Amino acid sequence: MIIVLKADADARSEDVRRLIQMAEGYPEVHTEIHQIQGATRALTEIYLLGSTGVIPTAPFEEFACVEKVVRITEKFRAIGRHQEDYESVGFTYNGVQVTQDSFHVYPGLCAVDDRKNLEQMCAALKEHGIVTSRAGAYKPRTSPYDFQGHGASCLPWVFEIAGKYGIRIIAMEVTHESHIAEIQQALDASGQATGVMLQIGTRNAQNFELLKAAGSQHELPVLFKRGMGITLEESLNAVEYVASGGNRKIVFCLRGMKTNLGDPHRNFVDFAHVPVVKRLTRLPVVIDPSHSVGRRAVAPDGILDIFHVTAQGVIAGANGVLVDFHPHPEEALCDGPQALLMPELPVFLEDVRIARDAYEARRRNAATLARRS
Ligand code: PEP
Ligand code: MN
Repeated sequence: MIIVLKADADARSEDVRRLIQMAEGYPEVHTEIHQIQGATRALTEIYLLGSTGVIPTAPFEEFACVEKVVRITEKFRAIGRHQEDYESVGFTYNGVQVTQDSFHVYPGLCAVDDRKNLEQMCAALKEHGIVTSRAGAYKPRTSPYDFQGHGASCLPWVFEIAGKYGIRIIAMEVTHESHIAEIQQALDASGQATGVMLQIGTRNAQNFELLKAAGSQHELPVLFKRGMGITLEESLNAVEYVASGGNRKIVFCLRGMKTNLGDPHRNFVDFAHVPVVKRLTRLPVVIDPSHSVGRRAVAPDGILDIFHVTAQGVIAGANGVLVDFHPHPEEALCDGPQALLMPELPVFLEDVRIARDAYEARRRNAATLARRS
């Protein structure tokens, strides 16, 4: 059971103390207080854990500090939506609002290689007014002999260049707990020149210790990439590890599933799950068309498969697109064959805008239907 407090309620007030005392008066029930900084408001929730099935909601609804009492039947206690009207809170990080209604494109390098390429990438983003990007410093590679990323050594110049071009969020994968502290230290040393959203998964989607570490710090948001070989339910449970640690700045990323049934794409594109994850959870959902498709194939209509699947995810309500670009893909140390080229950036952005406008028109259309019925 979750008790949502009113916006102005003080978690240390006498009213809240009495409420907790009453909850813990039931046998085998204990409580946890969770404070969530949403994009538009702060939420305080009191979780009743244990044998809560027989506890009535009415006595708790009487308290002046209580906004509502939600009985949780689903498994996803922290990230779940639970009720139709239960707010999708989202978050604001480094001046950027990320919610189930917002929309951002994160074009960038799969892996950071050299200053020149990063600088060209960031300059192009600035030119198009984009403040969100991706850049890999720690790369999980299938072969130990492949480029593993420059690691902590590149962070000072990555953050300096990103800051110079006004980038506010870089999605950056971490594969070990120690990387989180390295990123925080480098951000501090740069004077918070930019911001980082910690990317976890797909390969580490069930690395529970890493997920707990990302959840126990409440500063950097987490972009969780769905596990490519596990069920959606298992991925959502993995996200609960982050959220139950108190970090609610989470974005869920769809990036395709590993099955040869998706051939010739690198992964089977799963963007039909955009509305599903938005319905099951309060999380903003982004798509990664580059790691789904994995190649620069062009359809007979002249449109790249990467553009096609992006439009499919965006028209279904995705809140963002994580996409690989590279000024010189032949020089890329990772995933060059799937990178889009810099001259393609404005065309890609226009294609995305067309799909987002179509999504918004579809939403208005659905609202008309809802008003009639
Ligand atoms: C990446 O985004 O660089 C990456 C390795 O993606 P994924 O974990 O989805 O394969
Ligand atoms: Mn990659």
